Amino acid sequence: MRRINFQPELRSVFEEIGKIAKNLGFSVYLVGGPVRDILLGRSFQDVDVVCVGNAVKLAKVFSKRVKGELIYRRRFPNATVKWNNSAKIDFVSARSEVYPKNKVGLPRIRRTKDFLIDLKRRDFTVNAIAVDLNPESFGNIYDPFNGLGDCQKRLIRILHPDSFKEDPTRIFRAIRFSIELSFQIEENTKKLLSRDLKYLKALSQKRLWKEIKLCLKDGSDVLNYLRKYGVLRVLGFSYPGQSFLERIDVGSIQFDVDPVDTLIMALLEKKSLRNYNFEKSFIRQIKYVREVNNKVLRNIEVVHKLFKLEDYSLLYLFARYPKNSIIIENFFDNREKLQPELNGEDMKRMGVEESPDIGWLMKRIIEGKWIGKISDRKEEVELVERYLEGKDVSW
Ligand code: ATP
Ligand code: MG
Repeated sequence: MRRINFQPELRSVFEEIGKIAKNLGFSVYLVGGPVRDILLGRSFQDVDVVCVGNAVKLAKVFSKRVKGELIYRRRFPNATVKWNNSAKIDFVSARSEVYPKNKVGLPRIRRTKDFLIDLKRRDFTVNAIAVDLNPESFGNIYDPFNGLGDCQKRLIRILHPDSFKEDPTRIFRAIRFSIELSFQIEENTKKLLSRDLKYLKALSQKRLWKEIKLCLKDGSDVLNYLRKYGVLRVLGFSYPGQSFLERIDVGSIQFDVDPVDTLIMALLEKKSLRNYNFEKSFIRQIKYVREVNNKVLRNIEVVHKLFKLEDYSLLYLFARYPKNSIIIENFFDNREKLQPELNGEDMKRMGVEESPDIGWLMKRIIEGKWIGKISDRKEEVELVERYLEGKDVSW
């Protein structure tokens, strides 16, 4: 029996969990991501523990012991314990999952007394290795699908041929893990992935976009992989190409913008928004962007449109239309300075009546700054004075 070597700190936490479980009459195992990451010598954050018994009870006692915070979820049921600001352990009761036979859907879930059955419901061999945390057999590795071999060969392999059909989100997970771990997708798994692409269309919008977002967190290059494996084609998505992705990378660093929403915007470029139930604010941003799009941005009204855009939308315009990129850059760098120094009160003191004219004058000042005709407070005051004298102050 192979055994795992934990770092001393981790070891004492896991030994504690094993002892508590024993006192409660349960048994307990470390599973999934952390096992894989320890074997690969990678760092990890979230810990998953499977309990044969009542996982919530185990979590409660453990959380008292470490003076942690217990987050309880009714679904399944499971519980998370957080402590020391960063450490986080998920406690889940061992379960089996039975998928509906003739359609794609969520599985029927049953508790099981056999933790090996819990490993069978998992996605890939490297995620289906368990480590015993029970005091008598602490550290023993259980690896019924030869995940250790696949760790060594650096392969993502599903556990059975219907895996992708049962849960098409695993298609995204396979691609995501292959990038994150620098693994290859095993040949037969690759074939089955292609065969079962069609089931992606059966995913709910919510599950689909959750997976897409998780993938996009790995960076813009992920889109190349989603295209390579046919995922984008099956879902009817496309994106503007490699140089667009490169400009996204440059812009997201230069302007310090998270590009996930920008990339989603790109996927939706040719799509009618009616088919998607995104948040209203996001839909509004897409509409604003479509109004500006590839217009020649020197147009004086454009600055007002740019002020309505969130950073991720500005990044989109920056990357999508290179001829406008300098203007967007300019806007990112100077938008604070474009705000008028004069406020409504200043204008009223100068004699402007309380009316929509105040807002109108503000806009003229912003435009003046945008086109370089106004550079300081004195020139703002002069514009208001010209207005008060009845002169034309539009640019
Ligand atoms: P990381 O958290 O580093 O991305 P992970 O392996 O911990 O990797 P999670 O999404 O946290 O991934 O899931 C925890 C474990 O639950 C996985 O290792 C896997 O065994 C199982 N799992 C998660 N999602 C699925 C799924 N869709 N199908 C089958 N098993 C899954
Ligand atoms: Mg995890």
